[in-house]
Amino acid sequence: MKKLIITAALSGAGTSKKQAPTVPITAREIAEEVIAVAKAGAAIAHIHVRDDEGYGTMKTEKFREAVELTRELMKKEKVDIIINLTTSGGVATDDLRLAHLKELKPEMCSYDAGTMNWGNSFIFENSPKFLEKLGETTIKYNIKPEVEIFDGSMLGNANYYIKKGFLKTSCHFQFVLGVPGGLDATVRNLNFLYEMLPKDSTWSVTGIGKGHLPMLLTGLALGADGVRVGLEDNVLYSPSKVTTNVELVERAVRLAKEAGREIATPAEAREILNITK
Ligand code: ZN
Repeated sequence: MKKLIITAALSGAGTSKKQAPTVPITAREIAEEVIAVAKAGAAIAHIHVRDDEGYGTMKTEKFREAVELTRELMKKEKVDIIINLTTSGGVATDDLRLAHLKELKPEMCSYDAGTMNWGNSFIFENSPKFLEKLGETTIKYNIKPEVEIFDGSMLGNANYYIKKGFLKTSCHFQFVLGVPGGLDATVRNLNFLYEMLPKDSTWSVTGIGKGHLPMLLTGLALGADGVRVGLEDNVLYSPSKVTTNVELVERAVRLAKEAGREIATPAEAREILNITK
C-alpha cells in the first residue's frame, strides 16, 4: 500500500500558550518544533509565524527569522523535512502574503481556494485576483501548493484555477473540515469532497477540534495520501488532556501503521507530491 504523508501544522495564527503551553511562537521554538516533529515521523511542517505579542503575522522578517533558523538546525541535526509556509497568517496585503515565498522559496505553501466567513467572526479573504497572483507565484518559484479546501465551493474554484493555468496538476488538496463557516468534519462531508476530487490529485485531511481524530481515521479508511495533525487544528489529545505536536504526530504514526500504512519519509513525500525543487 502507498505510504502515508504526515503534515504537522505546528501553531496556526491563533493557538495560544494558554490553550497549549508547548505551541511554538518564537523563531527558536518553531525551529526546534520542526526538528521534533520530523523525528516523530512528519514529512511536512506547515508553518505560521507570530509577532512579538504572539499574534499571527505575515511579516517577511518573521518568516525569514524562523525559516533561516529552521534550515540551520536541520543541517546541524541532519534532519530532513519539507517546509510549507502559510500564505494566510494574519491581516496583510496581497503582496505581503506573497513576499516571503519569493524570498525564502519554500518547497510548499498553502493555497486557500476561496473566501469564507471564518468562525462566524471575520471574512477570510482570498480574492480572485489574489488566487491568480498566488498561483503565478507558485509556478514561477516552483513551490508546490497545499490547496486547502474548507468548503465544497472551494473545489470548484480550484478546478477553475487549474483550467486557467494558475494551478499546475497534479494538485495536492488538503481538506480542512470543522471550521465554523465551512463544512463540518463529518464522514459524509469528507466522502462527498473526496469523490469530487479532480483526477490524478493527491489529498490529505485534517479535522478541527473534536473532528481531528474522526477525520484522521476517515482519511485512513478512504486511502488518503496524507493526514495533517497539529496544534493549529486541535489542542486536545482527549477531552480532558491538552496535547503537543509530537504527541499528535506519534498518534498518527501508530494509527496509520495499525491500518497497514507505512509512513512516507520527506524524500518519499516529494516523490508522491511531485516536488522537484
Ligand atoms: Zn495554516
